[in-house]
Amino acid sequence: MIVTNNTAYVIDCGDGVARQLVSAGVPLTIVRHIFITHQHSDHNADYGNLIWLAWAAGLSARVDTWGPPPLENMTKLFFEMNAYDIDTRISNEGRVPLVPLVHVHELRDTGPVMSDGNVKVTAALVDHPPVVPALGYRFDARDRSIVISGDTAPSDNLVRLARGADVLVHSAMYPGAIDRLVGRVPNAAMLKESILSHQTSAEDAGRIAQAAGVKTLVLSHLVPADDPEVTDQMWIRAAESQFHGKVIVGHDLLEI
Ligand SMILES: [Zn+2]
Repeated sequence: MIVTNNTAYVIDCGDGVARQLVSAGVPLTIVRHIFITHQHSDHNADYGNLIWLAWAAGLSARVDTWGPPPLENMTKLFFEMNAYDIDTRISNEGRVPLVPLVHVHELRDTGPVMSDGNVKVTAALVDHPPVVPALGYRFDARDRSIVISGDTAPSDNLVRLARGADVLVHSAMYPGAIDRLVGRVPNAAMLKESILSHQTSAEDAGRIAQAAGVKTLVLSHLVPADDPEVTDQMWIRAAESQFHGKVIVGHDLLEI
């Protein structure tokens, strides 16, 4: 999430996003824009819940949501599924109708997304087969430019998008630990092939940060995230072997 001028721009809505915002001390009512990079559950599972829970917590102003299809239908069906609660809270608690507050914008391509008094947002198509389109986003604010890769294999489009940015938040995997990760599940062979085809190693994330000329690289969406044999120092060393700027390993609730 990026917060500027007491306005929250949420990028992706994985499991527990509303709870994590509260844990971070961010009132749900300041959520103004939601951006989805791609339609995978670890990026969209709580998309509808975030809006719904924010509204139940007092949100009464417009929310714009942006992302690949079928975002419009997902939004419509989510409200339909939860119509009982929504209607009850309107008639029984005097809340403003929720559905008209939410404006959905489906994105399919590289280019400008939106701008307001706080940020200018640009998208780029990244490489995350078979999920098409998958997007990365760049936020240019008054005092900082921040790029979020989404999930992607090494992507030239992303290098272009990130050129000269202050911060690049890039997804990263640690190839030496993938066998241990997939060894826990029955679909190991297919899962390994899938991960290797559509993620970027920490070393390559460093290469991309270097090529784009960013100041700080934040490794995020770590694959694996929970292997004690892969320490923060190992992630940093892998990225620093290719990148001369600052490297940070992302953790839940980290503030930069
Ligand atoms: Zn994904």
